[in-house]
Amino acid sequence: MNYKIALIRGDGIGPEIVNEAVKIIDRVGEKFGHTFEYVDVLMGGCATDAVGKSYPDGTAETCKACDAVLLGAVGGPKWGSDKPAEQRPETALLAIRKDLGLYANLRPAALRPALAEACPLKKETAEKGIDLLMVRELTGGIYFGKRDKYQTANRGMEATDLMAYSEMEIERIGRRAFEFARLRRHKVSSVDKANVLETSRLWRATVHRLAAEYPDVQYEDVLVDNCAMQLVRDPGQFDVVVTENMFGDILSDEASMVTGSIGLLPSASMGDGAPALYEPIHGSAPDIAGQDKANPIATILSAAMMFRYSFHLAAEADAIEAAVDKALADGWRTADIAKPGETVIGTKQMGEVIRDNL
Ligand code: NAD
Repeated sequence: MNYKIALIRGDGIGPEIVNEAVKIIDRVGEKFGHTFEYVDVLMGGCATDAVGKSYPDGTAETCKACDAVLLGAVGGPKWGSDKPAEQRPETALLAIRKDLGLYANLRPAALRPALAEACPLKKETAEKGIDLLMVRELTGGIYFGKRDKYQTANRGMEATDLMAYSEMEIERIGRRAFEFARLRRHKVSSVDKANVLETSRLWRATVHRLAAEYPDVQYEDVLVDNCAMQLVRDPGQFDVVVTENMFGDILSDEASMVTGSIGLLPSASMGDGAPALYEPIHGSAPDIAGQDKANPIATILSAAMMFRYSFHLAAEADAIEAAVDKALADGWRTADIAKPGETVIGTKQMGEVIRDNL
C-alpha cells in the first residue's frame, strides 16, 4: 500500500524529531512492503517567519488530502503572547484541530518496562504496572467557550469563560472511549465534577446512557479531584479514562509524569472522516533545539499510533514499539532519561538504534 503523510516539522526540536520518525517509517515500509509519500506542511513560528502567519492559507486542505498528519512541535519564545494572534503558533494548533474536526485526543500513558525505575511513585505502585489511555475531548468546553472581560462598578476588572457541552459532543467522545476499551482491558472511567457543574451532570447522564450499550465494558464515574489523587496513588487501576477538555488537559499531564519522561509519550487526535493528527505530547523544547539532544521516542511512538489507528497496521505498530523497548532494554538513553553516570546518546543515534532494531 502507498500512504500519503503530511509532515508538520514545526519549530525548536520539531524538525530533528520528525526526521528520526521518518527514518523509522521508511524502515517499516522496506520491511513490510509499504511506500510513503511525504508532504511538507509549513505551520507554527517558522510559518510566521516565512509568510507572516502561523497557519498559512490552505494548511487544512493540504492535510485533508493526506492519510495522516505527523506533527513535531510548534512554538517558542520568539513568537510570544505579545504578538498578534495570527502570528502565534498556538493559534495554528487550535485552528488545525478545529479544521480537521479533531475532537478526540488520545494519550496513552504506559510505563515502559526498561524504565520502571523512572516512575516517581513508590516502587510497589510502579511494579503493579501502568498502562492507561487518556481520552480527552478536544474541541469543546471552556477552552472554546465565549470569553469576556469587563469593568465592574466596585470590584475592578472581571473576566468570564463559558463552559458549554452538548449531548452530541459528549456522546461522540464517550463512544470512542467505549470502543477503545473494547480493544484494551474493557474498562472505562468517566471523569467529571457532577457534584458541582451542570455540564458535568449532562456529561454523566449521557455517558451512563452509552454505558448501557456496552455491557461488556466495566464502567465507573470518578470525580476529577479524586481522579487526580488516584493517578498518583494507584494508576494501575485505570484502563481508559475519558473526560472533558480542561480536566483532560491537566490529568493527561499528570498521567504522563507518573510514567517518567515527557520525551517518551505519544498522542493522537482524531475526528470523523478527516485524517488524524499524531504528535508527541511535549513542546518544541527551545532550550535544547538544534543540539542533537532531544529524545525522538515520543515522536516515533506517535508514528506507531499512526500505523495502528490510521492505517490499521497493528503488526507494524507492534514492531515499532518493540524496537523502542529493545533500545531502552539495551541501555540506550538520551539525556532526559539517563541516570547519573549512564552513557548518553543524541537524537540521531537514538533514531538509528531504533531503526536498526527494526
Ligand atoms: P516543552 O515540552 O517544550 O519543554 C519542557 C521541558 O522538557 C524542557 O526542559 C525541554 O527541554 C524538555 N523536553 C521536551 N521535549 C523533550 C524531548 N523530546 N527530549 C528531551 N527533553 C525534552 O514545554 P515548554 O518549555 O513549556 O514549551 C516550549 C514551547 O513549546 C512553547 O512555545 C509552547 O507553547 C510549545 N508547545 C507546543 C506544543 C505542541 O506543539 N503541541 C505542546 C506544548 C508546548
